[in-house]
Amino acid sequence: MEFGQEFGKYKQVVCARATDKKIQDVAQDGGIVTALFSYALDEGIIEGAVVAGPSDEPWVPKPVVATTTDELIAAAGTKYTHSPNVWALKEAVRQAGIEKVGTVGTPCQIMGIRKMQVYPFSTRFVADKLKLLIGIFCMENFPMASIETFTAEKMGLDINDITKMDIGKGKFFAETADDNHGISLKETHGYEQAGCNVCPDYVAEFADVATGSVGSPDGWSTVFTRTDDGESIFNAAVSAGLIETKEFDDSVKPGLKIG
Ligand SMILES: Cc1cc2nc3c(=O)[nH]c(=O)nc-3n(C[C@H](O)[C@H](O)[C@H](O)COP(=O)(O)OP(=O)(O)OC[C@H]3O[C@@H](n4cnc5c(N)ncnc54)[C@H](O)[C@@H]3O)c2cc1C
Ligand code: SF4
Repeated sequence: MEFGQEFGKYKQVVCARATDKKIQDVAQDGGIVTALFSYALDEGIIEGAVVAGPSDEPWVPKPVVATTTDELIAAAGTKYTHSPNVWALKEAVRQAGIEKVGTVGTPCQIMGIRKMQVYPFSTRFVADKLKLLIGIFCMENFPMASIETFTAEKMGLDINDITKMDIGKGKFFAETADDNHGISLKETHGYEQAGCNVCPDYVAEFADVATGSVGSPDGWSTVFTRTDDGESIFNAAVSAGLIETKEFDDSVKPGLKIG
């Protein structure tokens, strides 16, 4: 295992994307989360994955236990507000009877899950069922009311018209049918969850596999494999042709200086 000073322990870092066009079309970045869970479901490595699915309200995520690739695809894409996926793990095991569970979370959520695994107070029958933890990079997260406020007041948008949200190149972007609107992150500063200002982990240091957009070209993801399980599942998905990789080169899209 190598040690990258600012990026936690990892085995390899690559640029990667899902090869399935259906996943590429709906994914936030390279579709690594969706492709990896899809592979893990097909191979029986997991029986279900807790992901941030859609709810009745626009852009408000609702944790769902996905057991098929179609359900994963329905939950793809980033929602920039808290999705209580950790809370839904108990439900996945106890109500849905899933014995081998995967989940995706922000670095703080992954950290919480690892603590739960070390000290499974009132989660004894859950902690040992977690087989694949995918962490997504995260610099900041917003309460839903904040998103509605700044997209309306600073961007002049109706939340119902937004088809994709993204953060990159120092901006918050909201896509609508006719345009991609962006405002400087300086404008959204102050709308984040207060805890994000003192967050110690940007790149999900405790995940099996951690992924985000920073450092990779558009449509691709930066991926750190961190654990033995994470690396073997990721490599197997690559060998099976579900994910393609290329060398991580931070000069192509600066933002994550490795080494
Ligand atoms: C609040 C937030 C801030 C982020 N900030 C950065 C950043 O600064 N830099 C960076 O490089 N990347 C950041 N990301 C990660 C990035 O937006 C993508 O989620 C990541 O690259 C995975 O893309 P993908 O194409 O592999 O995922 P996809 O295949 O599109 O799947 C995304 C998965 O994440 C789940 N998901 C969506 N929203 C949430 C949520 N709020 N909580 C938990 N799970 C969720 C979905 O249900 C889906 O399973 C952030 C993500 C979030 C949620
Ligand atoms: S910035 Fe840190 S505290 Fe805030 S949601 Fe992301 S991982 Fe959690």
